[in-house]
Amino acid sequence: MANSSEKIESTMPHTENVIVVGAGLAGLSAAHQILQKSPKIKVFVLEKMKSTGGNSIKASSGINGAGTPQQERANIHDSPSLFYEDTRKSAKQLGDESLAQTLSERSANAVKWLEQSFGIDLSVVSMLGGHSVARTHRGGGKIPPGFAIMKALGDKLGTYANCQLITEAKVLNLITKEHAGPIGKKVIGVNYLKDNKEESLFGNVILATGGFSASDQLVSKYRPDLVGLPTTNSEGTLGEGLEMCQAVNAELIDADQVQVHPTGFVDPKDPASKSKFLAGEALRGEGGILLIGGKRFTDELQTRDFVTAKVLESCKRANVSPGSVIALNPAGYDKIKHHVDFYVFKGLMKKGTLTEMCTELNWDVDLVRAEFESYNKVVEGQEADSKGRKHFGPGKFPTANDGELFWGLTTPVLHFTMGGVHINTSAQVLGAGGNAIEGLYAAGEVSGGVHGANRLGGSSLLECVVFGRIAADSSTGAGSSL
Ligand SMILES: Cc1cc2nc3c(=O)[nH]c(=O)nc-3n(C[C@H](O)[C@H](O)[C@H](O)COP(=O)(O)OP(=O)(O)OC[C@H]3O[C@@H](n4cnc5c(N)ncnc54)[C@H](O)[C@@H]3O)c2cc1C
Repeated sequence: MANSSEKIESTMPHTENVIVVGAGLAGLSAAHQILQKSPKIKVFVLEKMKSTGGNSIKASSGINGAGTPQQERANIHDSPSLFYEDTRKSAKQLGDESLAQTLSERSANAVKWLEQSFGIDLSVVSMLGGHSVARTHRGGGKIPPGFAIMKALGDKLGTYANCQLITEAKVLNLITKEHAGPIGKKVIGVNYLKDNKEESLFGNVILATGGFSASDQLVSKYRPDLVGLPTTNSEGTLGEGLEMCQAVNAELIDADQVQVHPTGFVDPKDPASKSKFLAGEALRGEGGILLIGGKRFTDELQTRDFVTAKVLESCKRANVSPGSVIALNPAGYDKIKHHVDFYVFKGLMKKGTLTEMCTELNWDVDLVRAEFESYNKVVEGQEADSKGRKHFGPGKFPTANDGELFWGLTTPVLHFTMGGVHINTSAQVLGAGGNAIEGLYAAGEVSGGVHGANRLGGSSLLECVVFGRIAADSSTGAGSSL
């Protein structure tokens, strides 16, 4: 990979260049796909931060795949059509069916690509909310999936001579020129700021700039009711790609669909912080339960929008500020030890006895014991869950005063923007009348329509890989073989 300080050959005919804006998973998937399939193309990756990773590097639960060998080995019966059904159910009639179909059909291949091209461990499969079966893949070791994936893709990018990663390069706008056809113009490059100097690059453009959950301005424009909520996203998640696209008359889809995740950790050392660590959904997938005032109030494995609504409703009824306690038994801890050890290390979760938890939270220990006794009966299959939960994870919750467990305080957080730039199944950005804007492609969270009203856990990393690779193939004219 060429060094970012080298002179950039901005005068090359643009068909020989592809400019990828944003070095999260969507951007790096696109870059690698081009480098693997089209060695004659020069790839520029422009990233405004000092290093690659974006929000992708924070991902903690994993990536979805339907019909993978891992699932087969674990006797999990899944298929792209079942995944599509789950995705569309969660989307609640919004979004674009064709994008959801592409996502589900190419999911197993996306997982395989990460494993085979980059040697990433995705051997563990777990169940997240809103899925009919376990299909979220992560590694078996200590390293969270987002970090493992982004490190592998970032390291390998450095082995290509025809790729230039330029960090601290903020793309300002798209360059267009007049063009015959329904849109009347095409995108031919970008202007960006590097070392306080404005530079230009010419070529087809793949936008992979992420969402807008950290932009007060865009949240107040599209979802004024959510202004002020804390967020799990890094501070650079400002929706600049969306604004660049609107400046060339691209269409947006579902821009008001913003995901509020039910469980961002409240750090006892800094409870008012706007930035929150995510209490990954894998915690609930491996048996974690949610409590308000010592009692369960929802099926913890429902979709995120459902669980968040239950948190808000139950807290309003109890006249307490929005939040719940996540509790995990020791058998669940064993399944997800590395996550929990990290949360305990950060002071976000605690290990202690039933009495210690109740004392700290000012809960009646007998009330909580009764709650755990009744939940344990559900887990053992003696009773149906009044909340409707069907997958429970291992082990039971302690009922003796000195029985141990793990717990942490959580609150709803802005987490993901389902809406964004409307793309088609070739990852082309659409303008007026649904016509593609030539020269412009988008993938990952900057795009909208894949998830409709609610994204399922594990489907964002997946959309980055699936549509990042498609954008690469479309922008280079390489036939798709995914
Ligand atoms: C804490 C957390 C945990 C998550 N866990 C999971 C999970 O387990 N599974 C899952 O599927 N999803 C998960 N998600 C969601 C998922 O990680 C992201 O939605 C997804 O990775 C977005 O990828 P992206 O490539 O589209 O954007 P990002 O990874 O955010 O990358 C966008 C990049 O573009 C850069 N950029 C932005 N504007 C410009 C500009 N003007 N010029 C140049 N560069 C620019 C940014 O700096 C950034 O590096 C999680 C998200 C968070 C926050």
